[in-house]
Amino acid sequence: MFPVIYLPSPNFSARGDAAVSMLVLHYTGMKSAADALARLCDVQAQVSAHYVIDEDGKVYQLVEEQHCAWHAGASYWRGNKNVNNISIGIEIVNPGYEFGYRPFPAVQMQAVAGLCSDIIARHQIQPVNVVGHSDVAPLRKEDPGELFDWQWLAGQGIGVWPSVSGQWQEGTRARGGVLYDDPAGEISRSEIGGDAPPINNKFVTLGYEIPDREDGLNKVITAFQRHFRPSAVNGVWDAECDERLAALLAMI
Ligand SMILES: [Zn+2]
Repeated sequence: MFPVIYLPSPNFSARGDAAVSMLVLHYTGMKSAADALARLCDVQAQVSAHYVIDEDGKVYQLVEEQHCAWHAGASYWRGNKNVNNISIGIEIVNPGYEFGYRPFPAVQMQAVAGLCSDIIARHQIQPVNVVGHSDVAPLRKEDPGELFDWQWLAGQGIGVWPSVSGQWQEGTRARGGVLYDDPAGEISRSEIGGDAPPINNKFVTLGYEIPDREDGLNKVITAFQRHFRPSAVNGVWDAECDERLAALLAMI
């Protein structure tokens, strides 16, 4: 494939009988690659990932794929509450929102695509199970964030991307027929605990868990937007989001 630099981390456990069926992508969210590698190999930190991909495209392997790396934390996707146990985790070097979020360089994305393709082929991972950390932990996590080019990655055969009609150019979104306009969280208050509305069911069908708290649905909407409608991440459900969600459900 390409050269992999081995840098073993002590932070892993046995998978038991669990088969790998998911691929979870992260950003490191630290000032430098060296800081991130040090933390992911620090026995005190109790965190790790199978791979780290630096901004120059260098690929580090920290944990063997047969072992469970500790990258996702409390998480959920498509009925699975222990994402770590059934996934491969890749940390993509980027300072993140805290230290200066910036675009992922092309050479880094090429390395991401190469590694992901290899992992997906070897473990027969379904496209819908290629997700971001924010998808599996929407209350706690924002990575890899809206600058991560999921659309390009899907063009390389990795993950799902919702093809929509093309009417959603910048500037037309506001005229697109807003379905829910509720940044303050009114939707989740009224919908959770009542009859499950269609949007909740659709999110669950795709894979998300709607957290049982006031802002749970808004957090999921935000996570959905970071991944599938990155041009506007505002927690507000609109017609474009609705079309993209429908397109995804038609693909899986
Ligand atoms: Zn993460």
